[in-house]
Amino acid sequence: MSINQSGWRPERPEAGDAAGAPTFTGNRALMLEEPLIFEMDEADGCGVDFEPVARPAGRIGNLARSAPIGLPGLSEPQMVRHYTRLSRQNYAIDLGLFPLGSCTMKHNPRLNERMARLPGFADIHPLQPVDTVQGALELIASLGEWLVKLTGMHSVAMSPKAGAHGELCGLLAIRSALEARGDAREVILVPESAHGTNPATAAFCGYRVENIPATPAGRVDLEALKSRLGPDVAAVMITNPNTCGLFEPEMIAISEACHAAGGLVYCDGANFNAIVGRVRPGDLGIDAMHINLHKTFSTPHGGGGPGSGPVVFSEALTPFAPLPFVEKQGDHYVLVEEETVGEHHGQSFGRMTAFHGQMGMFSRALSYILSHGADGLRQVSGDAVLNANYVLRSLDGVLDAPFGASGPCMHEALFSDKGFAGGLSTLDLAKGLIDEGFHPMTMYFPLVVHGAMLVEPTETESKTALDQFIGALRSVAERAKAGDETLKAAPVHAPRRRLDETLAARKPVLVWKNSVETAEAAE
Ligand SMILES: *Cc1c(COP(=O)(O)O)cnc(C)c1O
Repeated sequence: MSINQSGWRPERPEAGDAAGAPTFTGNRALMLEEPLIFEMDEADGCGVDFEPVARPAGRIGNLARSAPIGLPGLSEPQMVRHYTRLSRQNYAIDLGLFPLGSCTMKHNPRLNERMARLPGFADIHPLQPVDTVQGALELIASLGEWLVKLTGMHSVAMSPKAGAHGELCGLLAIRSALEARGDAREVILVPESAHGTNPATAAFCGYRVENIPATPAGRVDLEALKSRLGPDVAAVMITNPNTCGLFEPEMIAISEACHAAGGLVYCDGANFNAIVGRVRPGDLGIDAMHINLHKTFSTPHGGGGPGSGPVVFSEALTPFAPLPFVEKQGDHYVLVEEETVGEHHGQSFGRMTAFHGQMGMFSRALSYILSHGADGLRQVSGDAVLNANYVLRSLDGVLDAPFGASGPCMHEALFSDKGFAGGLSTLDLAKGLIDEGFHPMTMYFPLVVHGAMLVEPTETESKTALDQFIGALRSVAERAKAGDETLKAAPVHAPRRRLDETLAARKPVLVWKNSVETAEAAE
């Protein structure tokens, strides 16, 4: 970045080729170049007039600041423009189709936002007396009832704050249940295709993780699982539908085998959006399962907001569930912080969080559930699966679908890089999609497929939107198969070109260094 008298002028030596002739400013029409806010600092710039302040002498001893604080000095309109310009370089679900498989980037209806902002939900404090927050507690209890009913399970813990946090909650309950029967076990079995959080959670809980291979059809190898079960296996962790976008049809047999060997069954329910209203995990012998509210019952996630990962439990695990929980006593809701009486007294493994969970997510999720109703939720999973299969079949003969021959997929379609010309990879295709105006799909995951591309369109995408995405994907895939080397330079139309992502991940530059000061210091 360099300064000249006319303002900021980014150094963009590459801007002249495929993207067209370089402009004076570096801007390309509405795509505006934007420096870091520190680089725009104006020596005496400030957004407000402060009265000169007489420093109180001696109040903070020698801790008084001796140098400027180092914040950029900008006026309000400069600052507003800076962040608005940056925000326009973002991709968002409200901007276009977001095909990230496994992450389920679904539309969050505006009605949910309206409900979450009601002051009775948004402006309350977690330490407020429960008599003053009866409505909020009722909301948590109602959402919990829906989750228990939809999953066919026995109870629910609402406090976990994300999917991975829910996994931790489930495994802590499993560990407590095993310890309560004096049966400390050491191993958790996790299929090869599991989401990375599964083995990470098991290891975090102090278990040894062992992999179970997948069959050529992309499912858990039941025979391999059965032969590994034994008195040291605490639990199996199965994702269903799995991360290949496929339903595990042998789930009941898996649960029965695991239970027969004295272990428990954890289900990663992040993909519940594919089966909600159609399959009840409780009927499949599952003991604990987290639900990502932010993937199944809308609500923003990732960079767009926090998540929420309630965990549903079987009857066997219910006594070990975490505190606190909401309970209806007569016509009054209470928050049970400690079980001092009753048969479950003292069995809970403890707390997951300081308070009760993500209130904002709860109100959005319940709003989503009530506005869809039972029939609407069933349609959600139907449409999600239909859209994914439309993508899968529309790319027949264009992209290799490793499990495509074994029938329809669930809510996401999995492709591989088979057939790409030498030297061109999944990464090149993904970068080519950026030039087409799409956020890339999930890449190189699941690991069981070479050069994997996992596409999840979600249920709210129209046929027009899907056709446009399919057209873009087909075009880029054909370039990759034909060996079009220009793909290696993609993206050429984005604000930044191909980055060294390994370097960026391994050696991130997170602190801005004032180059002028650094230069002066060197003199
Ligand atoms: C998203 C996801 C998780 C993790 O959920 P977070 O809310 O991101 O912690 C776990 N398993 C699967 C299969 C997922 O898709």
